[in-house]
Amino acid sequence: MVKQSLIKISKLFSLVVLMTFVSCKQNDNKLENDKIMSSNVFLKKWTGPYGGVPAFDKMKIDELKAAVEEGMKLNLEEIDAIVNNSEAPTFENTIEAMERSGSILDRVFAYYGILSSNMSTPEIRNIQEELAPELSEFNSKISQNEKLFQRIKTVYDNSKKTPLEADQQRVVDLTYKSFAMNGAELDAVKKKRYAEINKELSSLYTKFSNNVLHDEENYVTYLNKDQLSGLSESFIKSAAKIAADKDHEGSYAITNTRSSMDPFLTYSNERNLRKQVWTNYYARGDNNDAYDNKKIVADILKLRRERVELLGYKNYAEWRLQDRMAKNPENVMKLMDAVWPAAIARVHEEVVDMQAVADANGDKITIEPWDYRYYAEKVRKKKYDLDSEEVKQYLQLDKLREAMFYVAGRLFNYEFKPVPAGSVPVFQEDVKVWEVTDKDSGKNIGLWYLDPYARTGKRSGAWATTYRSHSTFDGEKNVLASNNSNFVKPAPGEAVLVSWDDATTFFHEFGHALHFFSSNVKYPTLNGGVRDYTEFQSQLLERWLPTDEVINQFLVHYKTGKAMPKELVAKIKKAATFNQGFATTEYLASAIMDMKLHLADPTNLDVGKFEKETLKEIHMPKELVMRHRTPQFGHVFSGEGYATAYYGYMWADVLTADAAEAFKNAPGGFYDKELAEKLVKYLFAPRNSMDPAVAYRKFMGRDAKIEALMRDRGFPVLSK
Ligand SMILES: [Zn+2]
Repeated sequence: MVKQSLIKISKLFSLVVLMTFVSCKQNDNKLENDKIMSSNVFLKKWTGPYGGVPAFDKMKIDELKAAVEEGMKLNLEEIDAIVNNSEAPTFENTIEAMERSGSILDRVFAYYGILSSNMSTPEIRNIQEELAPELSEFNSKISQNEKLFQRIKTVYDNSKKTPLEADQQRVVDLTYKSFAMNGAELDAVKKKRYAEINKELSSLYTKFSNNVLHDEENYVTYLNKDQLSGLSESFIKSAAKIAADKDHEGSYAITNTRSSMDPFLTYSNERNLRKQVWTNYYARGDNNDAYDNKKIVADILKLRRERVELLGYKNYAEWRLQDRMAKNPENVMKLMDAVWPAAIARVHEEVVDMQAVADANGDKITIEPWDYRYYAEKVRKKKYDLDSEEVKQYLQLDKLREAMFYVAGRLFNYEFKPVPAGSVPVFQEDVKVWEVTDKDSGKNIGLWYLDPYARTGKRSGAWATTYRSHSTFDGEKNVLASNNSNFVKPAPGEAVLVSWDDATTFFHEFGHALHFFSSNVKYPTLNGGVRDYTEFQSQLLERWLPTDEVINQFLVHYKTGKAMPKELVAKIKKAATFNQGFATTEYLASAIMDMKLHLADPTNLDVGKFEKETLKEIHMPKELVMRHRTPQFGHVFSGEGYATAYYGYMWADVLTADAAEAFKNAPGGFYDKELAEKLVKYLFAPRNSMDPAVAYRKFMGRDAKIEALMRDRGFPVLSK
């Protein structure tokens, strides 16, 4: 996952324009230093080596809120200056000036991101809550600024008569579009209704997620000590602790969340309890009580439709997808329809395999949804015999990091060197920093910060972000990028051994970092991500983990130093296609539902009935359920982040599989020099300065095909 800087999230609705980007020069001219609260550390210019670095060692939480507020104020003053310019609107005095604006706020958000994601406290969460409405108001002040939009529109209209340079034209197009897509062109009456709809929607989103949260917290299954059969010791231990924390000392709690439900359904021998846990989980938001989400979903769909109709679109999906790589809902449905039949056919095969195991066991049952994970695990053991503990002994965190540097050296010509001790401030002693340079020219590309270990106050999972992004229009900026993980910190001197999945994720996040480092764009806006495209680069980099070069040099046993045996590698690769019927079907069912819900007529929509009928129509196998049922589909209904965008994971997967196959078949394999050059030139460096579909065509010589994805998942490829 990539967490693009908070500044982008905060301004997401209004502007793609204001990316993480810092212009230090500007302090001297446009913004007088005396305007800035000179003592506030978050507002200060970044000093020191490498083009200036954040003063992470000097952060003062009690100065944070004032810094964000001051940053917003300064940004709005810059916007005012653009709007009040008496000269006719030009690219330079309007678009370029907007690209330059907000740099101090961006700088504050580099710190804000660290404090909220890496070092959170109740105090910081309070500040976030206090700032949320202020940030939203700040967004509206820019996105709904009529005079600003008129200037943008003039530049845009002029550019249609006299085209600008390609990258300037793209900045203008993207800026104009993001304003237009968010209602800037509406007349006063429609604008008013538009704002009302957004307000109603935002409260419905909050209600939706609170209802899901309510059902997650209130349907806990408590077990006694006779009901633990099949469960692992560590799972039992943590279930006992959760129960104790909930005043049920002596019993064991299965909470109504995926991280509790999934392992329980995989390992518990108690079928009735599996059914109960399954039922609780998939009924979240659908219990026909005060916390039921079906009516809320219907209301959200209606309001979304009304809002895009104000803008002149047929439906939400059409509006949402116009600036995505997929472009329109038809292209998305085409992809999903092509994969779906193979996925459900594989489910039927998996069910046959599982039924055979159940029968051989003498379990007199027919596979039901609450049996799927349980019997799949038994099939996995029988068919693949992969010992995850054995795999771990070859996956040392330090060696994996060296492996990533090696891959970056071969593909991107980068060299990573630790910065001299004490030269770059960090926010926590475990955070380490490397300088990234070009191997030939020695030119500094940027700094890579790694925050590897779990700790209190750090959010779970793994992510990548930037503190400063590349741009050249206002003096060249180098990149400050970070990777963040939650590995368990070892005792001093001991190796951190990680699972294959975690090693893959480590490579994935590093792929995001390389995407940041390799940017060659001139304007900050062009660093922006395209939702169905930004996971492609990172997913692709995962494919270098199981290459011979990496295995032989870096995947070595932590005691003997011997490389991972060929047979073990083969087993890992074979196991990758396991249970793909289940995984692909549960995911696709949700992605199809997301799209169909937004294409349907929302008048008097009965959400429960719609879900049932749609699943029947597409022949959803009865042995499993959508990964996210409609009343609990937070990606789509607790905000707009993934609305008609849940398909994006598979879209990026198609590109990943297709591009990986090109490397596999290249003369030099995954390290083919010519193909690596094209990879950097077309798929990484341009970021959003080029239409992703065009960029991909330049790399591949054609559009992506889905056959490679089908092969990856072990599905049959039908010849046309
Ligand atoms: Zn990612």
